[in-house]
Amino acid sequence: MDDLAEKVAAGDRRALARAVTLVESTRPEHQEQALALLEALRKLDRQALRIGLSGTPGVGKSTFIEAFGMMLVEAGLRVAVLAVDPSSARSGGSILGDKTRMDRLSREKAAFIRPSPSSATLGGVAKRTREAVALCEAAGYDVVLIETVGVGQSETMVAQMCDLFILLLAPAGGDELQGVKRGIMEMADMILINKADGDLKATATRTVADYSGALRLLRKRPYDPEGFPKALAVSAVEGSGLEAAWSEMQALADWRKEQGHWDRTRAAQAAHWFEQEVRDGLLSRLTRDAEIKAQMRESAEAVARGEATATAAAQEMLKRLGQV
Ligand code: GDP
Repeated sequence: MDDLAEKVAAGDRRALARAVTLVESTRPEHQEQALALLEALRKLDRQALRIGLSGTPGVGKSTFIEAFGMMLVEAGLRVAVLAVDPSSARSGGSILGDKTRMDRLSREKAAFIRPSPSSATLGGVAKRTREAVALCEAAGYDVVLIETVGVGQSETMVAQMCDLFILLLAPAGGDELQGVKRGIMEMADMILINKADGDLKATATRTVADYSGALRLLRKRPYDPEGFPKALAVSAVEGSGLEAAWSEMQALADWRKEQGHWDRTRAAQAAHWFEQEVRDGLLSRLTRDAEIKAQMRESAEAVARGEATATAAAQEMLKRLGQV
């Protein structure tokens, strides 16, 4: 184990891949080893810029990550790409599984690309992704990109483990602006309108204006400098706007560091994940423990038959859980 920790700390990509496999394993002895590994690496106290990237399928996430990642690598930075895909949690597939995605970036020595883990629960995926992020940071990566498909809870989850959360959108008419949920707009630190090229260029410019207006209407957040959150046009295919987007991301990250928001946000995120894991752990007892499962079923049936009120039966169940 010490050997693995040392190799990860030295930036060995194969060791990092093995370490991620270890944190993804559900076997108790692997989980124990993973815990020790993470504890050993925590002492290095290395930080990467964690960037969450969300967008619906087809908006150009992988094309963007390939181009953006290559730009960072060419600037001398080491880049890790992780994926969170709620559908793979159900199907066991993965959004980065397709070998043709990020073909150039995957061949770069300074890049590490990892498909999403398949797991039964969103909570499980969150835990593994956070731990994979921690491993990438310990391995000395400068930027960790976390890709997620734009559906529901996975975005909130990714936003809770990132320093910056970027929403990738396609050029569209004003009507479609309504389709982006307010909650997601509020989470976004930056909105990038992709495919600002060819025939779509003019529409992209209008879409940027629409979203800039919409973002201004949202209340300004205390952890944002003047002018943020921003909407910008990019073309992942042509590579245009990527430098500008990167310098805005850096400006925002630097400002938050100077103001103390960076550390405060990370501390709040860590506390959030602690509470979340305790909750997940308690909930999983209800489904894992055969005896508790049987008691739950019996009580539910008794309530259904009208033999006890829901409140009384729940109180009784909670009392029993306290004794287990
Ligand atoms: P993802 O599902 O969000 O990962 O999207 P992909 O990266 O697979 O891209 C979906 C489609 O959009 C592909 O056919 C890409 O070639 C195309 N695409 C991606 N980025 C751009 C862009 O900047 N401009 C144009 N015109 N097409 C793009």
